[in-house]
Amino acid sequence: MSDPVLVIGAGVAGMTVAAELSDAGIKTVLVERSSTMGGNALDLYKAFPTDDCFYCFEGNRWRPGIRKCFYRSTMTDQPNIDVRTGCEVVDISGSPGEFKVKIAAAPRYIEPKKCTMCGLCVGLSKAFYLVSPQCQPQAVVYNPQRPDEGTEKAERECPTKAINLQAQPFEETLRISDIVIATGYHEMKPVDMVEYGYGKVPNVITQLELAQILDPNGKSGGALIRPSDGSPVKNILMVQCVGSRDESYHPYCSKICCVFALKHANIVMQERGNARVSVVYMDIRTYDRHERYYREARQAGVEFIRGRVTRVERARDDALQITVYDSLLDKYLKFSVDLLVLSSALEPQPDMAGLIEKLGLSSSDGFVKPADQLSENEVVAGDHLYVCGTAAGPAEVPESVTQARAVVSMILQGRA
Ligand SMILES: Cc1cc2nc3c(=O)[nH]c(=O)nc-3n(C[C@H](O)[C@H](O)[C@H](O)COP(=O)(O)OP(=O)(O)OC[C@H]3O[C@@H](n4cnc5c(N)ncnc54)[C@H](O)[C@@H]3O)c2cc1C
Ligand code: SF4
Ligand code: SF4
Repeated sequence: MSDPVLVIGAGVAGMTVAAELSDAGIKTVLVERSSTMGGNALDLYKAFPTDDCFYCFEGNRWRPGIRKCFYRSTMTDQPNIDVRTGCEVVDISGSPGEFKVKIAAAPRYIEPKKCTMCGLCVGLSKAFYLVSPQCQPQAVVYNPQRPDEGTEKAERECPTKAINLQAQPFEETLRISDIVIATGYHEMKPVDMVEYGYGKVPNVITQLELAQILDPNGKSGGALIRPSDGSPVKNILMVQCVGSRDESYHPYCSKICCVFALKHANIVMQERGNARVSVVYMDIRTYDRHERYYREARQAGVEFIRGRVTRVERARDDALQITVYDSLLDKYLKFSVDLLVLSSALEPQPDMAGLIEKLGLSSSDGFVKPADQLSENEVVAGDHLYVCGTAAGPAEVPESVTQARAVVSMILQGRA
């Protein structure tokens, strides 16, 4: 019998590979460095193109009837998937088809299979918390940096004995046949772009941060409020191409930020009372079937200004005074808003260069580059090495899923 396939990263791309290989009877080790699967899609509220929950999305962009819900599908109970949350790959040796992969595991303070999510520990100590109602595995998490007087009591009283505060980290070396890189993307935090004041001026946030505010499962319960003081937001200014299409940061277009900005603008205008949205852009790039988000935004009254933000100042009441250069009118405009939302670049994970080097792969703008860009196999990164989802560059969920399925197909062909 062949060795298992290693999938690095349990976002939608990695989970799709693991689930579909598992369905085909192939064993998979799914390594995820955070405590829960799901990746960036965990707290994005509604997903384009269907405006559904993020875990019930189209399986295939050309056959929109096929849907898959990762929330209900019990990834952790699939006999062919060995889920390793809180783990990272620290070394890869051997040869293609016969890799030896060393995995380092963080201490497993809570045994996910034992935790019934009764909430007793969460009530006793702030060190225990639920990452998200959609988290997989369905278990609470322990933060060892925040022990308090209730922590040991929680360990003693956990009805299923799921808590072990003495848990230690450990390493393990596995034999692996194929490696799939599904490590996803990182949303750029534009702290160096002084013109926007991100990280310095209150109420300047990114689109991912806005998604978390709009999410009914988020901290504000979906209420559109200012982070600085919790007061209701009445005006939002969004800025496109922050760190993208910019030679000083990322020269590429991040491809999906126009669509998710419009998605958020529509949610705000249609679902959140009287809040108004203005969008400052260079070009609006709503590719493929997403043009409808632009049409809806115009119909809903979203204001579009072609130009750039030149200055952000904090007013006395925590409102923001923003100067925009309108390149169509050749004029400077002044805005007073509650929230400035930056459509920040999607960039490679910070440790991507190390993984690419370890595996002897090529990179393109820091993302994994296909081995042969001229062939149709955009998911083949090397010999027995594959890439899918946003580890290969900015992509939406349906594209990530389609790529993940292409990886599954390549692996199945290799084993036929
Ligand atoms: C604001 C915003 C809104 C969006 N809205 C939509 C939308 O409405 N519709 C849509 O289709 N798309 C949307 N997207 C895009 C969507 O988030 C991505 O397409 C999707 O999350 C990509 O999934 P992924 O599996 O490739 O990567 P990720 O979701 O980034 O998952 C990667 C996983 O790999 C893990 N990982 C990383 N490095 C390692 C490592 N070295 N070892 C182990 N684990 C690792 C990470 O912890 C993470 O869990 C949006 C994006 C943003 C920023
Ligand atoms: S007390 Fe035990 S079973 Fe209950 S939520 Fe906490 S860890 Fe899980
Ligand atoms: S998708 Fe839109 S906002 Fe994002 S980089 Fe491209 S043009 Fe700019």
